Amino acid sequence: MSSNRVGKELADFLLQIEERSQFHAGYPYNLSCDYSAIGKFFNFLLNNAGDPYVEPDFGLHSRKFEQEVLSFFAQLYKIPENQFWGYVTAGGTEGNLYGMFLAREIYPNGILYSSQDSHYSIAKAAKLFRIQHNVVNSQINGEINYEHFEQLISENRSSPAIINLNIGTTVKGAIDNLDQVLEILERNQIKDYYIHCDAALSGLILPFLDGAPQINFEKPIDSIAISAKFIGSPLPCGVVLTKKKWVEKIETAIEYIGSKDTTILGSRNGHTPLILWYALQTRGDDGLAREAKTCIQNAQYLFQQLKIREYPCMLNNFSNIVVFQKPSQKLIKKWQLAIFENWAHIIVMQNIDREKINTFLNELLLEEGLLNNAEDFQLQPVLR
Ligand SMILES: *Cc1c(COP(=O)(O)O)cnc(C)c1O
Repeated sequence: MSSNRVGKELADFLLQIEERSQFHAGYPYNLSCDYSAIGKFFNFLLNNAGDPYVEPDFGLHSRKFEQEVLSFFAQLYKIPENQFWGYVTAGGTEGNLYGMFLAREIYPNGILYSSQDSHYSIAKAAKLFRIQHNVVNSQINGEINYEHFEQLISENRSSPAIINLNIGTTVKGAIDNLDQVLEILERNQIKDYYIHCDAALSGLILPFLDGAPQINFEKPIDSIAISAKFIGSPLPCGVVLTKKKWVEKIETAIEYIGSKDTTILGSRNGHTPLILWYALQTRGDDGLAREAKTCIQNAQYLFQQLKIREYPCMLNNFSNIVVFQKPSQKLIKKWQLAIFENWAHIIVMQNIDREKINTFLNELLLEEGLLNNAEDFQLQPVLR
């Protein structure tokens, strides 16, 4: 290809991506980030292969930043510095795979319980690691059905229980109740259990919301996976945290890399820890808290506006996922809405502000004949 042609291809692609980013509402990605300050590092190889806490001879890595990122999450999830272990993953899926792998290593005969609304990576983990998987029914709001869970637990009292707890389901943003699950385990005298929390999106929202369920290591959870969806990262990534004692139980030393083989992947992205570090340094707890609250308020605003016009919709407590009746194909395409059966959802991230919500509402309600003219909408008072 001539350099002219390469330039044109890239310019076209840039335009396309800019346009698609403008109208992106169906998937949980924070698109309002600017990482140009660390752009120069993309001319270098960075590979954090192996354990984030073992210094290798190989020098092109970003472990220092990875460790600081992990310490931030450890503090947020209330596990002492000397008791946790974790690493920056390739995303929510790798964190879930890691949690399930660790659980299986600790309880080789354990049975996995997770609700129907769990992310598909949980069923994938059960397959990969050959864990017996008992799928628990969900409630309408996406939360696990506790009666069904207890029934399955009571039928398998002699086996250790591996539980994937959803801290914000993918489709409806429902939160499984940890206390209720613990009660059921106790009532059925299950002593050997492992609780993994899939907090892919809500993991960086709930800790900052007043009154929201606080799921952290002060309670008997064993691992948690969080993706960078809410932080926002041009390269998909995430974080997994667990208890050091579990990892020490299963680790093996690998001479060739001068490290310990504790991670799922061998070579690991060295740029993503830098991205996360930069995001946390520049936004901090306060910035993230503000963003979390704004997203939740904006989701409630979208939900209220649909509800007062009797447009079928649903919103879980402490969630930024507004579920509503599937609109026209035209709107689904334009706004890149995720669809399931007769439903669609908008995930109100940082880049979905009031203005964008109003634009969408105008288009939807006009199409549905629920609005007389496009101007009406802007006159609606803002609900709190
Ligand atoms: C998105 C998501 C995942 C998977 O995360 P990836 O980064 O796409 O691998 C897992 N669990 C939940 C609840 C999610 O929403």
